[in-house]
Amino acid sequence: MTATHTPAPSHRLREVRYEIRGELARRALAIEASGRSVIKLNIGNPGLFGFDTPEHLRRAVAGGLPASEAYCHQQGLASAREAIAAQQQQRGAPGAHAERVWVGNGVSELIDLCLRALLDAGDEVLIPAPDYPLWTAATVLNGGVAVHYPCLAGDGFVPQIAAIEALITPRTRALVVINPNNPTGAVYPRSTLVAMSELATRHGLVLMADEIYDGLLYEQAEFVPMAALAPDVLCLSFAGLSKVHRACGYRAGWVSLSGALLHSGAYQHALDLLSALRLCANVAAQWAIAPALTGPDTSRALTQPGGRLYETRRVVIDACARSAALDLVSPGGALYAFPGIDTVRCPGFDDHAFALELLERESVLVVPGSSFNVAYRNHLRLTLLPDADVMTEVFARIERTLARQLTRTAQRHVA
Ligand code: PLP
Repeated sequence: MTATHTPAPSHRLREVRYEIRGELARRALAIEASGRSVIKLNIGNPGLFGFDTPEHLRRAVAGGLPASEAYCHQQGLASAREAIAAQQQQRGAPGAHAERVWVGNGVSELIDLCLRALLDAGDEVLIPAPDYPLWTAATVLNGGVAVHYPCLAGDGFVPQIAAIEALITPRTRALVVINPNNPTGAVYPRSTLVAMSELATRHGLVLMADEIYDGLLYEQAEFVPMAALAPDVLCLSFAGLSKVHRACGYRAGWVSLSGALLHSGAYQHALDLLSALRLCANVAAQWAIAPALTGPDTSRALTQPGGRLYETRRVVIDACARSAALDLVSPGGALYAFPGIDTVRCPGFDDHAFALELLERESVLVVPGSSFNVAYRNHLRLTLLPDADVMTEVFARIERTLARQLTRTAQRHVA
């Protein structure tokens, strides 16, 4: 008989978290399995909330299926890369070209790939806090060190350049920008993006611009593509079909390299090598990329008055304005709200304990703010994807949970 061994997971995973699908999400599934329904607001997955992928993209995939049976070029289908490069050129990205576009199984794969191609052990990456936690996880998994720069509610979650610059060391290799931002919904002004590009140029950093929410904007918010402002630095612009085109399940994302390309040959070669090692991205979904970028704008109607995302966002803004305990920086873009809880009114508030009670007692799943690599524990993230009516109900349940917590705190004071 051979001895059985329990395999120990890699020590690299010790620092890696992804609580959007973590312990609370697993508990929600268990509750659902027991027969109780849960309103799950933990993931920005439009297809789960009745948003369809636009018909012309579905047709493109169906029509391309017979031509999807072989691996394609490691960088992706030529028609997809040409459409991506054309969009980048139109946006003013210097040097954007189909030869410098890589298509991946979602932006997720490319975040990992681009960091892996860059980092040596101990290299530092500047990442916003709060962040989309894959950026931190992928940095750590590739031997790097995630250095978080603050984006504070008091500043509308827009980063301050001096605070970023203070964190730069000789080991800093890259500056990550998530705009429009997940989880905060902040849309950065042009002046901030210009200053970030200048900072990267001064310190020789690679700019990594995660722009997966580039077409989801509310009210007067304006999306300014980073690549257009970054001629003198190596700039990687990430986007994809998941959010703007409501096709998360297609797993189609891309990255375009632009800017200071003169000495970028070795890095391009590294990207190409890593792409080749995984052969290629899902081919069938790539047929939808060119139609998505050249066809009708199908997202604007959702974010304008009367549109589903707009109306649900309005419910969140109004509910937070009415609440005695909740504070909100109104999201200018993307698919989330990141309300804060007033800790003077609610002393000892703990985001995880609150989210657990909200799930157990009120059947609503949200993500505690501390899951996004911030030290404070008084924020929650919820997606704007449900109907306005559902969101109204969610805030009634949030307020009930807050009221219960306040009563318990008051009772403790009396005792
Ligand atoms: N970047 C950000 C900021 C995201 O919010 C997400 C998904 O939620 C991703 C990247 C990954 O997207 P995908 O892999 O579906 O392209």
